[in-house]
Formats: sequence, C-alpha cells, structure tokens
Amino acid sequence: MRKSRLSLTKPFSLRESTNFSGRNILQRHRHIGSSLNTDNKEINETELQDEMEVESDNYHNEKNNDDDISIRENNDYYSEADNYISEENNDNYGKEADDYDEEADDNHIEDDDDNYGEEDDYNDENVYYDDDDNGDNIIDDNDNYEEKIVDSSIDSDHMSNINGSFAPYFENLTSALLFCWVQKHNISTNAYNDLVEILQHQKFEVKDVVKNIRRFRQWRNRLPLMPIRTRSIKINLKKTPSTSKGTKLCYYLSIRDIIQNILNNPLLYDKLYFGPGIEAEEKKEYWHGDLWAESPLFGQEKITINREIYYPNEFIIYKENGKRRFGRIRSIVSINDELQIKIQRICTYYELPNNFHSNVRSITSESQLWLIDQHLEEGSIIANTYEIIKKVDITIVRDSTIITNSLFIKEILYKNNGHWKLRDVTLDYMHLCEYSTLSSPPSPYNNLRILKIFIDIYYDDFGTYRNTYHSLGGVYIQLGNMPFEMRKHLRNHFVLGFVPFGGCFKDFIHPFIKDMKQLEKGILMNVQGRDCWIIAGLGCITADLPQGNDLTGVKRHNAIRGCRTCLAKENATDITLDIASISRYHHITNIQFKNIFTALTLEERNNIAKEYGLQTSLPIFDQLQWERHLQSPQDIYHIIAGKTLKLLKLTITMLSPEGERNFIREWKSFEYPKQWSKLPNPISHLESFMMSDRIRLGMVMPFILNRSLTINCLKQQEMDKLQRRIKLNRNQVINAIIKCWAIVAKCSQLTFKISLTIDDRIELERYLKKEREVLVELFDDFVGLPNLHASYHLSRHVRTFGTLVNTAVGMKEMVHRIFKNKVPHTNCKNIEFDLLKYYTTLQAIRHLSDGGIDPRNLQHSVEFTNLFQDFSHLFKDWFIMESSETDNKEFKVCSPSSYFRNIILRKPVSVRNTNIGIDTVSFRTDLALAYESFGYNSSLINKTCNFYEYASYIQDMHNAEVQCHLSIDDVVTIQVADYGESYAVIKGIFKHKSNDGYLYPFIYVDWFEDICKNHDKLECPIFVLRHDDTYCKIFPLTVIEKVQKVHFVHDCNSRCKDNHNLENKHYLRNDFFFKAI
Ligand SMILES: [Zn+2]
Ligand SMILES: [Zn+2]
Repeated sequence: MRKSRLSLTKPFSLRESTNFSGRNILQRHRHIGSSLNTDNKEINETELQDEMEVESDNYHNEKNNDDDISIRENNDYYSEADNYISEENNDNYGKEADDYDEEADDNHIEDDDDNYGEEDDYNDENVYYDDDDNGDNIIDDNDNYEEKIVDSSIDSDHMSNINGSFAPYFENLTSALLFCWVQKHNISTNAYNDLVEILQHQKFEVKDVVKNIRRFRQWRNRLPLMPIRTRSIKINLKKTPSTSKGTKLCYYLSIRDIIQNILNNPLLYDKLYFGPGIEAEEKKEYWHGDLWAESPLFGQEKITINREIYYPNEFIIYKENGKRRFGRIRSIVSINDELQIKIQRICTYYELPNNFHSNVRSITSESQLWLIDQHLEEGSIIANTYEIIKKVDITIVRDSTIITNSLFIKEILYKNNGHWKLRDVTLDYMHLCEYSTLSSPPSPYNNLRILKIFIDIYYDDFGTYRNTYHSLGGVYIQLGNMPFEMRKHLRNHFVLGFVPFGGCFKDFIHPFIKDMKQLEKGILMNVQGRDCWIIAGLGCITADLPQGNDLTGVKRHNAIRGCRTCLAKENATDITLDIASISRYHHITNIQFKNIFTALTLEERNNIAKEYGLQTSLPIFDQLQWERHLQSPQDIYHIIAGKTLKLLKLTITMLSPEGERNFIREWKSFEYPKQWSKLPNPISHLESFMMSDRIRLGMVMPFILNRSLTINCLKQQEMDKLQRRIKLNRNQVINAIIKCWAIVAKCSQLTFKISLTIDDRIELERYLKKEREVLVELFDDFVGLPNLHASYHLSRHVRTFGTLVNTAVGMKEMVHRIFKNKVPHTNCKNIEFDLLKYYTTLQAIRHLSDGGIDPRNLQHSVEFTNLFQDFSHLFKDWFIMESSETDNKEFKVCSPSSYFRNIILRKPVSVRNTNIGIDTVSFRTDLALAYESFGYNSSLINKTCNFYEYASYIQDMHNAEVQCHLSIDDVVTIQVADYGESYAVIKGIFKHKSNDGYLYPFIYVDWFEDICKNHDKLECPIFVLRHDDTYCKIFPLTVIEKVQKVHFVHDCNSRCKDNHNLENKHYLRNDFFFKAI
C-alpha cells in the first residue's frame, strides 16, 4: 500500500469518538468556494482539513485565503464547523482538543489574555455566507463592497531581522527545506507534528534513516500480523464490468486468529466478561439479556443442587411462598455473585383465568399444564437453589402425533392488549438449549479454564450510493464479552474481511462458518501463556433490513413486505397485532423450508416459497447453532432514521409557504446542542439527509414546530384532510402534529438509552405503542410501513440482548465508512487486499503497544510499550490506540478528585470578557466554599484567577475512562446533596493557586432551578435559569458529573422575535436529546 506510510500527508484518521455523519462536505463547500472565486472550483479535501486544524496558523491563512474565510465563517457561526469538515476525513470533535491545543501553543502564552482580540476583530469583518440554500447566496452584512487586501507579503519594515544565508526569508536551510516539503506534499498539521516529535527525540539518528521506503514493507512482515487468507469465489457477472472474469480472489482473516489476538491483548482480555448471565436491575450488556443466560454456548449451562445436575429447559418442582409448583428452568443466572434459578412459571387447570375453564379442558385437568408467557410479569420468577425440590417429567407437545402418559403442555397462557389468551405451544421460541449443545472438552483438557465467546457479526453491503467498481462490502466482528463502553470504540470492531464487488456473501463467509462450527465444539488456545478451552457461538447478526432478511432466509420487503421476525403483511401496523401468535419461529420455518425443498417442480417450489415469504435456499448461518429469527434483530439506527425521515417529509409537504418561512426561521435560529455539526436545510436538502442528521433533527423538531407552527402554516387542503381524519379543530390539529413529533422523539430517546431499568423498559413499551397509534392515526403513509412495524419487535430484542443499542449498527456503519473512504487511497487494483494489509498492520502495532503477546515467541515487547508512552503525539488520536495521556504539561492543573485525571485548561480568556465579577464578596465566599468541599480550610492569599474557554479531562465512570471536553456555555449535571441531579450552565472555567501553591480548576455556573412543571404540549420539564447569587456559583471542576448529556431550550414567549427575550428565564429540558452513537 503505497500511501499508507504512517500518517504522513493524509492521516488515516480513524479517531476515537468520531462524530458520525457521512454528509458530503466537499459538495457543500464547493459552492461556497466557487461563489467566492470561480477559478477555484475544487477545494482540496486535505487542505480543508488542514485549514480547520490550524485555525490560527498564519501560514495557512495566507496561502488559501478565500477558502479559509468561508470556513472561518462556518466555524464562528456554528462553532462546530470542525465536525463538518472533518467528517469526510473521519475526524471528530474529540479533535477539537487538538485545535485548541495548537492555538494555545502557537499564539498564546499562558495568562496572556489580550491576544484574542485580534482574531475576533478579524472575524467580525467577514461576510456571512449562508450555505443552507442553493448557491448564490452571499448576504452582505454591511451593504458596502469596500475592497481590502487580506493576504499579502509583510512590508519590509515589519520583517523581523534574521541573519544567515536564507535571510530575509528563512532562518536556516532546515526551515526552508521543511517549508518547501510541506508545500509540495500538502503535509497536514498532524503529520508534521508527528514528524517533529520523531526528529527531535533524543534517540533519533539521522544516519539510521532508511533511504528506500520499500524497506518498511519488509519490516511490516516482522510484526505479529494476523494472517490474511485468500481463496477464489464466484463473481456475479451482472454486477461487474463485462471484462471481469467469473471468479475473483477474496481476502479475509480467520475468526480464530481474531479471537486469539483479542485474548492475548492484556488490555482487552482483562476487561472481557466470561460467566453466567447476570440478572441486573439496569440492563446494559449482552450478558444482561436472556440469550446469554439461556444459551449453553454463553451462559451457565448447568448447576448441581443436592448432588443432582440441573440444566436449563428442564422441568422442576420448586417451592414458592411455601407452596409446591411446577416450573421450567429458563436459565441459571448470577445475582449479587450468587447463582440462582430463573424459572418460567407453569399453571394448572384450576389456576387458569376463569374464561378458559371448559368441559373439554377439564377432562385433562389432571395431566395438562400451561406455560405462562415468560415475558409477562407473572411469567417468570427467580428462585434460590434451596427452593428447587426435584426434576419432573413434563412433555411439550409441539406435534399432535406425540402421545404421552406423563404431564404435558400444549398451550401458553399470555396476554394480548391486556387480555388473557391461550396460544399453541408451537408458537414460541424453543429454548436455546434445544438448538445448542455444549460438548465438554476431551479428557486431556478437562481441567482447563473454559472461555465462552459471544460473536456479534455485522455485514455492511455495498450501500445505496455505490460507485460501482470500487464498492466494498465489509464483514465485522465484535465480541459480546466486551463491556459496552469498550465495544463502542472504533478500534474494538474487528474486520473479518471485505466481500469483493459482485461476490456473494454466502460464498465469502464459508471459512468463517467452518471455523465457527469447530469453535462451537471448542478448541485449545494459548491465552496469556496458559492453555484454555475456547468455545464461541454466534450471538447475533446485524445488517440493514434487506441484507438482514437475506441472512435469515426471509424474502426482502419489496416481495411481499416480508418481516424477518413475523408474518405480518398488510396489517403490519395494526394496533391490535398479536405478535406472539404471528412470529416466525425457527422450528416452524424449518418445516416450511422442508416443504420448499421437497417440491416436485421448480414452479411449485417458487410458489411455496412465495407463500411463506421465504427464500429458496437455507440461510448460510443455519449451519451454526442459532435461532434465525430471534438472533437477527432489526437495527434501531435504521428504524428510527427511516421513521423520522418519513415524518419529516410528510410534515414538510404539509407546510404552506408561510409555514415554510416560519419553519426555516426557527430552524435557523434554534439553539442546537453545541457539539452538533450544522444540520442541512430540511426543506431544500431533505433527500441528502444522513441518518445521523435525521436522528438529531428528530430531537429538536418538537421544539421548532412548537415555535413555528400556527394554523396558517398548513396548506388548506392538508389542514382539511387532517381535520377530516382526526376530527379536530384547526388549533387541535396543530397541537396534534406537535405532540406527535414529541412522542416520536421521546420514543427515539428511549430506544437509544444505553442502559435500561425496568421502568425504562415499561416506558419504552408504552411509548412504542403510543407512537404507532399516533402515526397511523395522523398519516396514511405510516400504515403498514416496515420501519414502524419493526418497533413491534423491539421489546423482544431488549429482553434478548439487554438493550437495543447493543445491536444497533451506527458505530459499525462508521467503521465501514472509514474503510470505504480509504479506498481512493489504495492503488485501486487490489482494494480488499490492500485494506486488509493496512488493517493488520495497525492491529499489530496496537497489539504490541498494548503489551500484547506475540504468538511466535509468547513474549510481549517492553520496548514497544515504552515507545507508545514516549511518543505521545504520534500515537494520539489514532483509532488503534487508547487516547494518550500526556499532553501539554504547562496547562495542566491538579485534580482534587481521584476520579478526574489529566485536567487541561485551554484557550485563555480575559476575565473582562467573562462578565464575572471576581472582586465581589460572593465570589470570594463561593471560592472558599469550593476549596472547603475538597478539604481546604484556609484563607485565600492568591487573588488572581485565570479564565479559560475550554477544559478537558479524563473521568472514571463505571470503571471506564472517558475523555471529556468542557467549554463555556455547556450545560452540565452536578449531584447536589439531598437533592440529586441538578443542572447548571458553565459561565466560567478558571484556575486558582491555592495556599499550598498548587493550581486547581474551578467552574463558575448559573443554575437551572426546577419548578416542577411540565410543558403542556411537549411534556418536557420547565426550569428557571438563575443568574443571581441565591445559590453558590463556584465549584471545583471535579463536581461535574456529566457534560453535554443534557440540552436546554428556551421556552419562548411572544416576545421572542428575532432574538430570544432573555428576561424570560424559562427553559425546557430537551427530554428527546440523546447521543445516537
Ligand atoms: Zn414483524
Ligand atoms: Zn425564546
């Protein structure tokens, strides 16, 4: 791979916490560029990136002024233009930190507040380009076209005196050469900083520099690389250019190698969870879900009670409140580190609700029993092991030909729409133990530690916007054993391989299936120097709707609106849909597949397949142990984005011209969360809305509509239509639309919660129902919509996988996009191979620097780990690395809390500009109180406070380290004693020297006071922003619990016209706000 020299010229910046949005930035900026300067049609992507990175780097400003202005504008106007430029390059707003850093380094000496004035002035002079609209839209603030030179040489009077042969231009040859080199190759700031760090390292030797870059290739192969395998697969000629051959080589890694690599990386291995399913109050991880607990491949497969071994799916008699009852063991779960038994309850004839008592049933009342749906509150119970009495023989009669003399079960008692019902026992997922068997290791390995691994596989197809020839299908692996906090990092998504264009997934995935079959039985592996017995099972597969259907053998939506989880068709969004009775179940689908395969003619075969909505071949994963319908959850990311887009389109088409104007006005002036990049115009750019943008817009739409929508805002015929449909007056129609958006937004927020309590789950279910009702009631277009229908299955997915975020593909799509964006930088001949080589190289470097063990010599490299520590910049912000700790030490301040590390303050601001009076009594008192809060009880000798715009730090949260960024005007949550979670706006960030001479960081805040009232339409709580001194305003920075996790919106009144009337101090907490990724 020619261009993949480590991060030179074009950093392959797979950064952590990359902000996900694939909007095409170039297009958006191209028109700005061209409206400024018609000659300058193309703005180089890299330059754009660089401009952003070196905001205050004069050299760049001079060089490319036009572009720079436009970007500066964005940056000022929206403060996060950063994202938007860098998204294309997969950068992120974590990068902000760098930028601030650079600014600080380049232009500012600490405490030198006044420098900032210059930059502000400069910006004020710039015109404002409105890039929301279609093109020729330069709005001039001053109406006056005075020309100015904004870039030129300094005149000789101002040239500083330098000597040497390169005077007056450069100080020396080195500077001159580097300047030219940077120009020639368009070196990015990051790449340059990395180079400087290398060159200036004390052990760096010029004589050791190799002259031939090809040598690096040889060195690459010395690293502990995961082997890349290849084989030839068939290519569908229809999809590829006519010159292609019928076969193509595909490249991939082995799942065994990936597992071995992960298990031998100590930083990863130490955090993996192996063990029984955990019954948690708050569900977050895969092991909090039913699947983990019930499957012998992941959870606890047996337990010995009174010298008898019990397995899940066995029937027992147990004691409940002193009474003996029948039950079915669902799983053996851990509660507070103690193994307990989760039992599905069984009822007798006499315990059935009265309406089920009949003569027919009473005949068998002594032998027939009923399972209670385990997902009902009364359906399951957790028992201590001592409450288990004995096993009992009960037969589940799924097949009427079975005749039994023992106790039997034919029906399940369940509830639909609040009513008790009975359904056939075949209409339930079989227990996972009925699909999966766990084989014990062969005798020589009996005593080895067994590690069970949960595999989550994700397939991203070529995508809608494929540029045919260079399209890339990616298959990615995650281990469900990793805690969520780790799984969400880009670097913890593992590449299995890339499906070549025209190649078929089924064909590609064969080696994986073969390995997995072996892994289901178990294999011997050396883990951290110790032999272990490794078992791995397929936990879940995720893919977009059409591919997801392919993977489960269900026909795609366009055929007959096929749902891969149930048989709903035209009735897909009916409020009364009885999902349990129409779900697809593995054992039933098996019979249907059999019917398809035994058909005598091709025609008959196709007809049967069509009738069942199934494909004519078995899904490839059927060779593994799984329940194809249960383990292929629909992804919330696509569902929510699809639903929101639909609603957005419907809403916008209803708007009258006045409605559009009002809407756009409020949309433009809306106080978006600061960390967001700017959203495209929803009216003119609706079609190009990326999924992440749609999801974000959904979070603020209720507020924007609440501000902008009046009865004149709808087209007359739309208003009439709605009035007829929902039989309300015009004002009520408007309110109904706003409320509808509020429900959809609340639903999305609940769906994306990263951990779910029981209350959350109940609320989620309630809102999903509400959402279906309101959407179908208001809009015909939602009737039968697959995206809306899919929400019927979400509560099942929550139970199966713990949360919905666990199986969401947002982050996975981002990983795939990173590789897709890398394609143009390969030689385009052997894309898949090149990308994999690049990937294995990065993983090898990561492995070594994490202290990973080289399988060839079972050693780890101390030198490499040290290298990583020494070269903070080189290894920083690289997707393969943990973010580096060391930073500019000068700005670092002490932390009064052990949960906060590496607190760095950035971008000094003058105290004058903060509007904070530091000479007041209340300031002094509050500061003293703040010191007291961490145990300092002394008078404050030092009077100076130095203020900053930003702070960053590493916070320990629930055993995970999180890099946080704080800036002025952020809303933060603070725990207040005896009160709980409270909200405050950061008005100032400053450091103060304590009496012991150490510098400590503080925040100055305005509090939001909860007035315990909700907004009537939006149902969001109302708060009052307090500017006064009623409450203490200064705290150590370390009181902050969370940053940017909440969003507040002005509760506008009629006096909010062009600007918000700030005398009105009422604000709404945006309860629809969440982080989609
Ligand atoms: Zn369905
Ligand atoms: Zn307002």
